[in-house]
Amino acid sequence: MKAEILAALRETDGYVSGQELCERFGVSRTAVWKAINQLKKDGYEIEAVNNRGYHIVSSPDVLSANEITSLRKTKWVGSQVYYYDVIDSTNTQANHLAEEGAVHGALVVADRQEAGKGRRGRAWESPANIGIFMTLLLKPEIEIANASMLTLVAALAVTKGIERLTGEKPAIKWPNDIVLNGKKICGILTELSMQIDYINHIIIGIGINVHNKNFPDEIAAMASSILLETGKKIKRAELIEAIWEEFETYYDLFIQTQDLSLLSEEYNRYLANMDKPVRVLDPKQPFEGSARGITDRGELLVETEHGVEKVSSGEVSVRGIYGYV
Ligand code: ATP
Repeated sequence: MKAEILAALRETDGYVSGQELCERFGVSRTAVWKAINQLKKDGYEIEAVNNRGYHIVSSPDVLSANEITSLRKTKWVGSQVYYYDVIDSTNTQANHLAEEGAVHGALVVADRQEAGKGRRGRAWESPANIGIFMTLLLKPEIEIANASMLTLVAALAVTKGIERLTGEKPAIKWPNDIVLNGKKICGILTELSMQIDYINHIIIGIGINVHNKNFPDEIAAMASSILLETGKKIKRAELIEAIWEEFETYYDLFIQTQDLSLLSEEYNRYLANMDKPVRVLDPKQPFEGSARGITDRGELLVETEHGVEKVSSGEVSVRGIYGYV
């Protein structure tokens, strides 16, 4: 009920009377009063004025199922929210939950990860109170060959969400990193659970550095946070909401065509590598060229002296010639 009361208080700039809350949720005056007191303990500043009711003055930057649910405006993403103060990895947990019957659109969120994952078995630094670590569970009816494009759909959604909340324009380092001023503030890890010829489920894991002020030595040169790069202290739950709202729009366009033909133009507008020299770290044979945008299947076009190569994400990393981007 706390989430519903929070949502009701957020619907208006004015006051909501205790009576209205009782009637709306079919509970007693005392139950409303108790829920309000719990919210205050959780850090919400709620004003109570005689004869007028309750008014929310400010919300803390907390992640909780109540906070996420009360802000939710999406149609299907987050229809189930699983929140954890600490988890090994939201991707691992989403996999377990999928096997236990969690629905398409279920969202796993944690305040801290003890074993955050990056691509190819690498680790994702996931400290408490300052980041977003979340995984969306999808059970889509799409071809296996089309699944990897979802990483790019998610990258676009994160970029737009950050832009909406900060007013700054992040860029995408193909295929799946979001950068601000050339520094990595977000990573995305998409994983597939499949049978030989069909998809059981797909999970899209997103890690965002929101309020970090410093990083471990190994990543300090290339990693940064929204706070460090923009100076803005945004609310994490609000960013989560914005990202999934954007995602739903892009996802519909992806499902319509089963590729990125309706999204590639927009993706290319945010592409950090666009028309820049890049080094493609292909395990077979690394090479250099100029990035020329993505195809409708999400491959990166790289112009070399021998012609234009189509690079697919899989095993490949792309770096700027002079730095990370
Ligand atoms: P690339 O292909 O450019 O090498 P990637 O997209 O494959 O990168 P990810 O799997 O997204 O890499 O992220 C893992 C890597 O990101 C780690 O190896 C580490 O270098 C770096 N990293 C780990 N934690 C963070 C963090 N919180 N912020 C920024 N970078 C991080």
